[in-house]
Formats: sequence, C-alpha cells, structure tokens
Amino acid sequence: MANFMEHKILVTGGAGYIGSHACKALAGSGYTPVVFDNLSTGHRELVKWGGFFKGDLSDKEAILSCLKKYRPAAVMHFAAYAAVGESVVNPARYYSNNVVNTLNLLDAMRSRGVDKFIFSSSCAVYGLPRSLPINEDQPLEPVNPYGRTKRMVEEILSDYSAAYGMKYASLRYFNAAGADPDGETGEAHNPETHIIPLTLAAAMGKTPFVEIFGADYKTPDGTCLRDYVHVTDLAAAHLLALKLLMKNGKNLVLNLGNGRGFSVKEVVETARLVTGKKVKAVIRARRSGDPAELVASQAMARRVLGWKPRYTRLADIIRTAWQWHRKAISLRLNDCHKP
Ligand code: UDP
Repeated sequence: MANFMEHKILVTGGAGYIGSHACKALAGSGYTPVVFDNLSTGHRELVKWGGFFKGDLSDKEAILSCLKKYRPAAVMHFAAYAAVGESVVNPARYYSNNVVNTLNLLDAMRSRGVDKFIFSSSCAVYGLPRSLPINEDQPLEPVNPYGRTKRMVEEILSDYSAAYGMKYASLRYFNAAGADPDGETGEAHNPETHIIPLTLAAAMGKTPFVEIFGADYKTPDGTCLRDYVHVTDLAAAHLLALKLLMKNGKNLVLNLGNGRGFSVKEVVETARLVTGKKVKAVIRARRSGDPAELVASQAMARRVLGWKPRYTRLADIIRTAWQWHRKAISLRLNDCHKP
C-alpha cells in the first residue's frame, strides 16, 4: 500500500507568499509538492521544494496535463487575487480568476479522479463581525467582491462535495504575516499593500513613512485591530488539514488566526522596537471597507486539527519578517514599495 510519504500534492500559487511556505512544510513532512503557477505575482526563485509546472488556471488543458503528469493525491489551492480595494474597482478580474479559474481546477480534478482539496479562504467571508472573536458559525456576509469570491468557492465546494464526493477543507485565514524563520521564503508583493511589510520598508528607509489608515475607530488607541497569524503556522495548519482529510475524508471549514487583536499603532511601535529604527508614521483617512476589529476564534482549529500556533507574540512575527526583508533575495523581489 502506498504510504503518505510518496504522495505528491499539487500546490497552485506555490510560488507566492503562503503557498511557498506550504511547500516547505509539505517537503519537510515527506510529501512532494508540485507547484502550478503562472508567475503573474509569484516568484520562480521561491519554488524551492518539489516540482514546478508553469501554467495558468484559465487554461484547462494545462491543468489536465499537469494532473496527468504528476497524479497528485490532493490539491492545495492558493492561486488567487487578494487585494480587497482592487476587487472593488475591478470585480471582473476577481470573479474570473478566483471563481471561474477555481471551477476549471475543480472540474479538471473531477475528470482525473483527484478528490481532495484544501482551499485558501479568508476572514473576508464574514464581512462586518456580529460578535468577537469570530467563530465559524457567524453568517457569511462579505462586504466586497474579494470576500464574495471566497464565499462563492466555499459554496461550490459544498455542492461539489454533495454531488461528486469532493472532500475539502476551507481555511479562513485572518492576517497572514511574518516569514520563514530560516529565511528561505517570505513576502514579496508588488505593489505591497500590507501593513507589516510597509512598516518594515519605512524602517529600511525605502519609503519616508508608513501611513496609518484611520485613528478614529472605536478601539483602545483609535486604530484598527487585526489578528496577525504567522505564515509558518498557517502552513502547519494546511498540513494538519491535509492529513486529516486523507485519514477520515470529512470536510472542514475552519478559521486560522491567533485569537488576539493588535492595533495598527501597536504594529508600528513593535516594528520600531524590533528593528531599532525610527519609523515615521502619518495618520491618514480611513481606508474604505476596513472593519474596526477582526479577531478569530481559533477554538475549532485547535480542537479539530490539534493546531497550536507557535508565533503568538507580535514581536516574534515581525522579527521573522524583518529578517526576511533585509535579505538580498527579498530586496530583489520587493523592488517596488509605495508609500
Ligand atoms: N493599514 C494601514 N496602513 C497601510 C496598510 C494597512 O494603516 O499602509 C491598516 C489597514 O487599514 C488595516 C490593517 O492595517 O486596518 C491591516 O491591513 P492589511 O492591508 O495589512 O491587511 P488586511 O486587513 O486588509 O487583510
């Protein structure tokens, strides 16, 4: 009987931020990741574990030939667009890539008999939280097209499971942050929109200051609270979900967060302490669509997966990101920061 050590796992978007960390975790557990990526936002240099197939999810033939070639036991699907603001002004791009292309992938899997799927969902499916911390039973009321694409795919997965026996895990990430503690991979978005890398860009002198979007929220210091969860902990949760799916075939829908909220001001202050640099911060107007507070209940992930995040302190999360952002490879990949 084949043992799990021989399993190949197809990782779409494996050249990107979270996908590359998942590849490292898979390889470290004896799986062979195979990255399927069009390199539109990912980086070939970050494909360091397992195989690589350059392809686009709009190309059904490419997906089929990749599945035929590697015969993966399961698919981890990270490839998607993820900028909320852009999804508001260009929803077509989001529905087409995040929904239509995911359908292409699911249908190719069906025709090749691949029936296990780990999906990168998001806390954006909840919209404005009804209560905090957010648990999985809260209604799914996304407030932007990005969040709606994630909800739609979750609904498709539920229907595909009922009709075709697809087994899936929908993992709703809160704010992915940090970088591989060994410095082998990390965040490299162009343009960057996330608060931690933008704060570190200011610490490095690449930009003159970091902007704080709104200091008049009803929160202790007036800035938004977010649940920053380390990308290595996210990768570990994917591995646990994969193993569970392979073992018992029961669908999973789980939040992945740290269970604690940190304000934007705390992020900037902690980055000053970690880097020892003066980071200038400028208060700006609120960014539209930002809820005041998003914090996960991680009770279900702990109970079902036995998942326990290792990086619970914001300083430790920022420290791994700081180590990564100063590396030559990161400096090369992160060549376009905007203040
Ligand atoms: N944020 C900010 N300045 C920036 C980027 C983000 O103040 O340059 C704030 C943003 O309004 C939110 C928090 O930082 O309250 C986290 O935003 P990010 O874009 O990092 O992640 P998101 O929550 O959108 O997934």
